[in-house]
Amino acid sequence: MRLFDLHCDTVYECYRKGETLIQNSCAVDLERGQCYRPWCQVFAVWMPDTVRGESAWQQCLQMLSYAKGQTSPKLCFPQNTSQFEAALNNDGVVGFLGVEGGAALAGKSERVAELAKLGVKIITITWNGSNELGNGCLSDDIRGLTESGKQAVREMERCGIVPDVSHLNEAGFWDVAAVTKLPFIASHSVSMSVTPHPRNLRDEQFCLLRDRGGLVGLTLCAAQLGEQSFECLYRHFDRYLELGGEQTVALGFDLDGTDLPAEWQGIGVYEQFAEYLQKRGVTAACIDRLFFENAYRFFMRFLPQ
Ligand SMILES: [Zn+2]
Repeated sequence: MRLFDLHCDTVYECYRKGETLIQNSCAVDLERGQCYRPWCQVFAVWMPDTVRGESAWQQCLQMLSYAKGQTSPKLCFPQNTSQFEAALNNDGVVGFLGVEGGAALAGKSERVAELAKLGVKIITITWNGSNELGNGCLSDDIRGLTESGKQAVREMERCGIVPDVSHLNEAGFWDVAAVTKLPFIASHSVSMSVTPHPRNLRDEQFCLLRDRGGLVGLTLCAAQLGEQSFECLYRHFDRYLELGGEQTVALGFDLDGTDLPAEWQGIGVYEQFAEYLQKRGVTAACIDRLFFENAYRFFMRFLPQ
């Protein structure tokens, strides 16, 4: 089965535990991931809202270099479409680096270019709280992006980094839409019309991402889903389909960033959910778009040649 997932926090978890990406006690590791071929995974470097200023920047650099130092012959971080295609043909694990939390920039938008040089492809603008760029969906501050945030987002577009609006508040979302021209993504967000949670997307937000050619990754986070079951996850998926999002939906299961029921067996959850969808009568083509094709097409358009 082909798999492309837009968000996991395994790098942070492994780094914290002093383990490796190759084999570890987390939900995701490179050995177990071999059951999916090809397997593309966005590895995000999570920045807690409490780590700020220069120490946030330093922590981000350390975790990026840790991730890039995982020298498994199976893992590569392609920087252009030909490297991406080669990695897919090589049966390897295709990694993309993300930074979850613009606090990493410590207020300096020129650091976006530095992160691009280090191979970062996605920046999640905020986590749940506020940072120099804007306010997360759980912040008391309901204003949108700061001037520095708008500048950083424009800089992302210029440097070939995809802005990610998961965790961002609604005003910030519309600011991102206003200052960008290219597609952007919500790497791990489900539907507010199914479950009213501040981290979820309103229908209008989903439709904007759909019209832009962006992506929205379904997440497994219990609070966002409303009920942590495949039945409930299906309702979110189905809402996105009702909104004409068959080419917008993707997966961002947030493994190692959210607690899962034991029976989902960590990385085994993808296979189980695919079987569930099949039983519910979802076509193989639609399952493949959700699990791989949409995200693959997005990155083929977005990466330089
Ligand atoms: Zn997250």
